Amino acid sequence: MYLDNSATTQVSQEVFEEMKPYFTEVFGNPSTLYRFGRESKKALNQARQRVADAINAKADEIIFTGGGSESDNLAIKGIAFKYLNQGKHIITTEFEHPAVKETLKFLESLDFKVTYLPVYENGIIKVEDLKEAITPETILITIMHGNNEIGTIQPIEEIGKIAREKGIIFHTDAVQTFGKIEVDVEKLNVDLLSLSSHKINGPKGVGAIYIKKGTNLVPLIHGGGQERGIRAGTENVAGIVGFGKACELAASQLDEHYVKLSSIRDELIEKVLSTIPESYVNGDIEHRLPNLVNFRFKAIEGESLVLILDSKGYQASTGSACSSNKLEASPVLTALGLDPVDVHGSLRLSLAPESDSFDVDEFVDTLADAVRRLREISPLWNQELDYDSVMCKKHGDDCRMC
Ligand SMILES: *Cc1c(COP(=O)(O)O)cnc(C)c1O
Repeated sequence: MYLDNSATTQVSQEVFEEMKPYFTEVFGNPSTLYRFGRESKKALNQARQRVADAINAKADEIIFTGGGSESDNLAIKGIAFKYLNQGKHIITTEFEHPAVKETLKFLESLDFKVTYLPVYENGIIKVEDLKEAITPETILITIMHGNNEIGTIQPIEEIGKIAREKGIIFHTDAVQTFGKIEVDVEKLNVDLLSLSSHKINGPKGVGAIYIKKGTNLVPLIHGGGQERGIRAGTENVAGIVGFGKACELAASQLDEHYVKLSSIRDELIEKVLSTIPESYVNGDIEHRLPNLVNFRFKAIEGESLVLILDSKGYQASTGSACSSNKLEASPVLTALGLDPVDVHGSLRLSLAPESDSFDVDEFVDTLADAVRRLREISPLWNQELDYDSVMCKKHGDDCRMC
């Protein structure tokens, strides 16, 4: 049972079938004039229209990219480099996806100033904080729509309204919300919006950016003038065709999937909280994605939990990243103000509409058993220990948690 659909999804059969001819039969370069090329071009145009329709945009406002990360990079660097003479201040949140966070860090090294809005315990920014952060130097606001680790949804419409009033360009990363809740670029008041194909049952390595008509940015990839000169390089035709199909399917099944996913999620939350002592949901309980829930279990280590679940056939992920020699707790969960010890006991479960065979009762029984076993061997659970003596913040030699 695959429970990590926020990390990536399975390419659906319909998407795969639609892509197939573009690997072998229709292989022409879309920039050429003869029939093969024209057929590829036609397929690109159809895909572009499908993506546009799914977010209420116009086809010429869609630029295909190599995925969500590239779209985020293009939006942020593209605006930063275009408008650096008007100001070098950018506003974001404390818990963006690395594709946004690392891009901003890079810009900071080039003398840009970045304000990171707090997300508080519920994982949602306060619009008042945003208003206060705006200066005459602010050239861009970039705030994600749905968070990839805890699933909370930001008030994008309202943020967009403020940005419009102030004449500031507004970008949102909608990779996690697209296909899960309504993403309508008009209603959201955004100028730039990032999408990724592989989070909605499309192929990996393809995505798109919505660029509202009249928004100017500097390209990242210069070359042969494809994608209106904004993203050069011969198009990934098969990938784009698959992405287009995935968009069409996601849009047509949005309501049905929402109802289905949120009901499984709610059942899961209810059962976990009532069965497992000292278990919590990370982030706002109301404003969240229908397919994602992040739990926290006191006094256990998330990676051990993930491994036990894996051995029982459930694949999920954790915010505890005790990888090799770098022991860093999830920055997203840390941004909620959680103690690092508690962050380590987190588990992200993300469902897919096709998870029909997912038996919530059976899963929660397995989970409860795993948590019980881990607590039996946990010094944090067994003794009333001072947290600091068990686990130093920097994970020193006598850190018994790791
Ligand atoms: C997955 C993800 C991305 C990156 O998309 P890729 O297509 O994998 O590059 C960006 N933002 C969010 C919120 C994501 O979940």
